[in-house]
Amino acid sequence: MANNSVVCRQCGQAQNDPVFRLEAMPLAGAFQKPSDPVSSDNYFPISLHACGRCGLVQLEESISPDVLFRNYSFSTNTISSLVTHFSEYADWLITNRNPSTVFEFGCNDGTLLKFLRTKGVKVMGADAANNIVDFARAEGLDVINEYFTVDLADEILKKIGPIDVVTGSNCFAHNPDPIAILDAARSVLSDDGVFIVEVMYAGDLLKKLQWDTLYHEHLTVFSLQSISWLFRSQGWSVVDVVHLPMHAGSIRVVASPKLDQKPSAAVDALLAAEKSMRLNAHQTWVDFGARARRQISLVADVTNALAQKNRLWAYGASGRATMWMNACNMDYIERVVDSSPLRAERVVPKVNIPIVFPDEMRKTPPDYMLITAWNYAAGICAKEYWYQGRWITPLPELKIW
Ligand SMILES: [Zn+2]
Repeated sequence: MANNSVVCRQCGQAQNDPVFRLEAMPLAGAFQKPSDPVSSDNYFPISLHACGRCGLVQLEESISPDVLFRNYSFSTNTISSLVTHFSEYADWLITNRNPSTVFEFGCNDGTLLKFLRTKGVKVMGADAANNIVDFARAEGLDVINEYFTVDLADEILKKIGPIDVVTGSNCFAHNPDPIAILDAARSVLSDDGVFIVEVMYAGDLLKKLQWDTLYHEHLTVFSLQSISWLFRSQGWSVVDVVHLPMHAGSIRVVASPKLDQKPSAAVDALLAAEKSMRLNAHQTWVDFGARARRQISLVADVTNALAQKNRLWAYGASGRATMWMNACNMDYIERVVDSSPLRAERVVPKVNIPIVFPDEMRKTPPDYMLITAWNYAAGICAKEYWYQGRWITPLPELKIW
């Protein structure tokens, strides 16, 4: 049934009913202090749509970026696999583009920029999070505390000149106005400059049933086809793509601000793979929604039954934790372990489960540990090798060992 009030944010097509919906969910990163006032005004539905025309997978609800990002509870350098990712990305940039200048929007604590600086690249960044830019500036990086818009172009050009690579990781798809970012990039790029984004990949969302990443800040999940549609509509060409393990599956997309540039073989191959798995078909996502609902029920039933006779904790106060605990109403989980000082000693929003540093886990080890940050399970188990209880991962399939 067509729900004519909702149109595709990218191509304007009227959307069918949501393929997946959760009611009254808190913002996934809103890890409050126990004393913070709580208002149900801060709970919003999550409605997933999949556009049958351009292939875009998107959330209907768009929360103001100022609410989501001005005070941000995520810093890259607390996650070692992400630090490794950005080290490798810096090497990839040197090998493939050899840029003199790089500008990164949504640069977070400056992890990528630092790696590039040590290789002699002139770097500059921007990030909207007031609290996180301080970390980058403490490293001596030049970071503007703003969104990347054409208004910043003069300032950037004056400071480091035309930019060979404008890049953004895990932020482009969070923005309700990606065209403003493309316009800003076009206005600072050098003659042969390119724009490179790293975004969560719809193919991995589908394969690994990652409904738990569909929180409000992840407004859009791109396939290569849907992001190509966006670039083409603005006069750009996608020229290369790399499939990455980051965040349980992402793509790095390289685009030129000129039309009709020849794509690499990797672009053609991934577009063909998407076609054969029907990644951009509406029905694919209707099926995804049904599978996600079944997995939520299964994990809720199994963990609830275990918690009747055992002590159950969770590991990783990520956005995924907020999603699982609220979708399954896991008020039977005693504690959530997380090593980030931006999260520990706070609570998971709405279910109000206390977040503790890992040393609390050593003091009173629980019987079962649900790894809510299941995409980092290998690293977590290696770090907590001493733990004698049983681990649980809820995705890509439910596992207890
Ligand atoms: Zn569309």
